[in-house]
Amino acid sequence: RFATLTRQPDDPLLRIIGQHAADPRTNKIDLGVGVFRDEEGRTPVMTAVKAAEARLLTEQPSKSYLGPEGDIGFVRALATLVLGDAVAAERVVGLQTPGGTGALRLAAELLARSGVERIWIGSPSWANHAPLFRQAGVEPAMIPCFDLNTQSFDLDGFLTGLGEAGAGDAVLLHGCCHNPIGIDPDAAGWHAIASRVAERGLLPVVDLAYQGLGDGFDVDAQGARTILAAVPEALLAYSCDKNFGLYRERTGALFAVTPDRDSGATVFSNLLALARANWSMPPDHGAAIVRIILEDESLTAEWREELETMRQRLESLRAALAAGGRIGTIDLAAVAHGKGMFATLPLSPTQVEWLRDRHAIYMAGSGRINIAGFNMAAVQTFHEALRDMVAK
Ligand code: PMP
Repeated sequence: RFATLTRQPDDPLLRIIGQHAADPRTNKIDLGVGVFRDEEGRTPVMTAVKAAEARLLTEQPSKSYLGPEGDIGFVRALATLVLGDAVAAERVVGLQTPGGTGALRLAAELLARSGVERIWIGSPSWANHAPLFRQAGVEPAMIPCFDLNTQSFDLDGFLTGLGEAGAGDAVLLHGCCHNPIGIDPDAAGWHAIASRVAERGLLPVVDLAYQGLGDGFDVDAQGARTILAAVPEALLAYSCDKNFGLYRERTGALFAVTPDRDSGATVFSNLLALARANWSMPPDHGAAIVRIILEDESLTAEWREELETMRQRLESLRAALAAGGRIGTIDLAAVAHGKGMFATLPLSPTQVEWLRDRHAIYMAGSGRINIAGFNMAAVQTFHEALRDMVAK
């Protein structure tokens, strides 16, 4: 049987991690992997998370099974935090998932089960979006809608692309801090997208994986809230892996907005059945930590402050990067339009390779950089490397 399989390519980002680790040059810069880093290049455990873990260690009464819905206290606390009052509580159901990826996978399977055949995705998008939906039986349809030279989102192009969508199709939207581009619609853009989605009868799937790392915690949820408030049915895949620094703990949730309580119960029963057949129950630890933090005012305040420090670090690194101005044909100043961890620079694969070989600067072949991979000195090194590149 296995002889029928064909060899799959390595994950290119994992290859970059390996190459970076093996590079003996001490001035090497890693802009590849999408994790937050501090000025020293570390990805520390947040202090509020450590405090919640300590509490969990002494106070957790049992490790007996929960259920396919996971930690319901976590799901409730998160729903309040993320949705605000955008949708009436009786129209929302939710369950814990293994990370944002698990939430997206469950969303995709629910769509497939509901007869949705196609999902529209602005392109480029997170590299896992298209394969994830395709493997669940929902065909991705890409809408090219970013201009790397001007670092801008082409709202008209995106809306025109959605004009081709049929009623019953789904559309994927990055809630904030777009990965890999870093450019989000502005408030007016979100309203225009919400109207188009509603008038064409599309089912929006909002992927919110970086709340708090863009403009601020509440502002970052506004796009998602605008969309969810405009339609009878929607899905929201949420990840706590970046904004709580929980990455390997695989902490996330999927929320479904439904027309009424009764249809919500039906949707929820399907989500439980799908979760049961996939992973039975989600891993507990990360969600328990988030619940402990969100149910405690002082831990919540501590976490919010740490998150805000992370956000400000990204903002100041982005500003420092943008201060490089125009280098050859690359307008770094335009990077200031973006937010969050990522930007994608208009670099060719050959230029990306040259920067790696000549200057020990590692980034995805697409030109995507993780801004948190810089420190202030590395930004200057990067500017110099680009000047060297365009001078040759
Ligand atoms: N959506 C986007 C846009 C992401 O960038 C990521 C993580 N890279 C995820 C979802 C998945 O997050 P998680 O690690 O929680 O599965």
